[in-house]
Amino acid sequence: MASDLLIRGGRPHGLAPADILVREGKVVAMGPCLQPPPGVPVEDVHGALVLPSLVEAHTHLDKSLWDMPWHANTAGPSLMDKIDHERHARRAWDIDPQRQSARQVALSVAQGSLHILSHVDIDTDQGLWCLEGVLATRERCRALVDIQLVAFPQSGLMRRPGTLALMDQALTMGCEWVGGLDPYAIDRDPKGQLDAIFALSQKHGRPIDIHLHEPEEMGALTLDLVFERVRALGLQGQVTISHAFCLGSARSELVEPLIAELAALDIAVMTTGPAGWSAPPLKRLLAAGVRVSSGSDGVRDTWKHYGNADMLERATFLGLRNRLTTDADMALALEVCTHGGAQVMRLHGHGLAVGKDADLFTVRAENIAHAVAAHPPRELVVRRGTVVARNGQCLHLATPSPDPIVFTKEPA
Ligand SMILES: [Zn+2]
Repeated sequence: MASDLLIRGGRPHGLAPADILVREGKVVAMGPCLQPPPGVPVEDVHGALVLPSLVEAHTHLDKSLWDMPWHANTAGPSLMDKIDHERHARRAWDIDPQRQSARQVALSVAQGSLHILSHVDIDTDQGLWCLEGVLATRERCRALVDIQLVAFPQSGLMRRPGTLALMDQALTMGCEWVGGLDPYAIDRDPKGQLDAIFALSQKHGRPIDIHLHEPEEMGALTLDLVFERVRALGLQGQVTISHAFCLGSARSELVEPLIAELAALDIAVMTTGPAGWSAPPLKRLLAAGVRVSSGSDGVRDTWKHYGNADMLERATFLGLRNRLTTDADMALALEVCTHGGAQVMRLHGHGLAVGKDADLFTVRAENIAHAVAAHPPRELVVRRGTVVARNGQCLHLATPSPDPIVFTKEPA
């Protein structure tokens, strides 16, 4: 898939006009008036803003209802209501994980997200069915997108015996991450769940990503238990806390020590910039040196109809939620949706610079703040030097209705 390409007439990072020369999938030169070597195709982007690929650092590829018939959301209000409702709807509504994950991948690629960190439900009803479907999509889409997977005990770990063994198996099948979920609120056994997932992490040598919706003291207590284990096991840099609503508490005496410890133990935080929940304070986290990533979370699933997998629009949401109004602060929102996610996923080739992977997109905007404010359609998306989407459409993955998902054209 690594290709040669000259991108002519763009403005990398919104700075001075510069051409970008790509050889074998890597950026080898950036500057004015570059000449294409013989045989290298040229894409003239006519003054567009050129940015590094977006990073979708928290989603659920196995459960989107995208392009499926509309199902009225009748799930109850509590977290457990939604979890139970989803588990039953999966088969009843034919939410096929392979078909639906491919649809969401196409949506992501079309919008310039070329790296996806996805949780996949592992439970005693579905077994490994969801994982098998997403693994098939990952294999099919390998040329289009990097996908890392989290074995995620969505229905609880301690409350559903048998789940731990399935998680163990999921890690041998290709999951790169160990997932966790509200050790108090869902499992009512914080020590049990955390000991179990940290043991899995140790056994397989894999990082951990914990969904933590628990508010205020409950969330703070769980974080303390996580800190203890990271310290004892030397897992600095290996843990991400997703959502971390407790960090959105208005009580600084609760939040500030937690932020200091997150920074000291190099524990990352993922925030979607949620409208309806307390949200971690993005600027304070970044100022403390905490790695921060973002993601769409569910994209039109049984939990909520909202979501479109657009990580440039997600930067808008982060900006709104965190009152990021200056151009410099708005650039921070984009940074979280690009570099922040790349840091969490350890994507060493990410970034729009000489020597990095040629994973980028162009957008009709004057500068980064304009792109964050307006999130216009992506005109061109390039993956390792190959054009994979144009004018908001993924070129290589079609999703005819119903099955099967097929490539319309093999990537070069
Ligand atoms: Zn999630």
